[in-house]
Amino acid sequence: MRRKLAAGNWKMHGLAADLAQAEALARDLPAPAVDVLLCPPATLICRMAKALARTPFAIGAQDCHPAAQGAHTGDVSAAMLADAGASHVILGHSERRADHGEDSALVAAKATAAHGAGLVAIICVGETEAQRDAGQTLAVVREQLRDSLPDGASAENTVVAYEPVWAIGTGRTPTDAQIAEVHDTLRAALPDAGIRLLYGGSVKPSNAAEIFAIANVDGALVGGASLKAADFGAIIAAL
Ligand code: PGA
Repeated sequence: MRRKLAAGNWKMHGLAADLAQAEALARDLPAPAVDVLLCPPATLICRMAKALARTPFAIGAQDCHPAAQGAHTGDVSAAMLADAGASHVILGHSERRADHGEDSALVAAKATAAHGAGLVAIICVGETEAQRDAGQTLAVVREQLRDSLPDGASAENTVVAYEPVWAIGTGRTPTDAQIAEVHDTLRAALPDAGIRLLYGGSVKPSNAAEIFAIANVDGALVGGASLKAADFGAIIAAL
């Protein structure tokens, strides 16, 4: 049995004042039956990890550099994230693949670095709208998964998130059948049956229960709705 996971991705949102939201959510949330994770911007990891210590919330980052240390101005290593209090790191999000030209080989290298620092890597894959329209979805996600998963990926150190690019931040979601088709395909390609497979892309309180009922959906990676404590709480409760 894979334990479900609700992960919030704050992206480039959040100042110190917003920590109160996360604290209120952790305080008011009835003991969750699932794993919960918040991934704030790097600037808040340390403070959020302190603020949410002794709550069920784990803290994650949104990226790391593949090297352990060195002359890489502006970058942050996996060991630094762990040192700041993170236990997870999102890697290969489509916004990083698009904005920073990250390819799957780089994502795999980052995941190896994350594992080396004791972090769980949340590896994102997903097709663009043009790729879906061209009937390439399954081939695209299979290739991204194959090339992004590092050697040694296991249930303990890796989570995979399927995030169709066209569903992120748009309010649009795939049909249940489309989600099921991709999750079944990814599940069959994973090296360890215990690796959790999240769905991400416009998850909100009103569609969470339906999405979570789909076979092989082990939770969600939530962007916009994770910024509002009430919405994220409702999504956690739906898992
Ligand atoms: P969204 O983002 O929930 O705002 O669509 C999801 C994500 O990018 O992880």
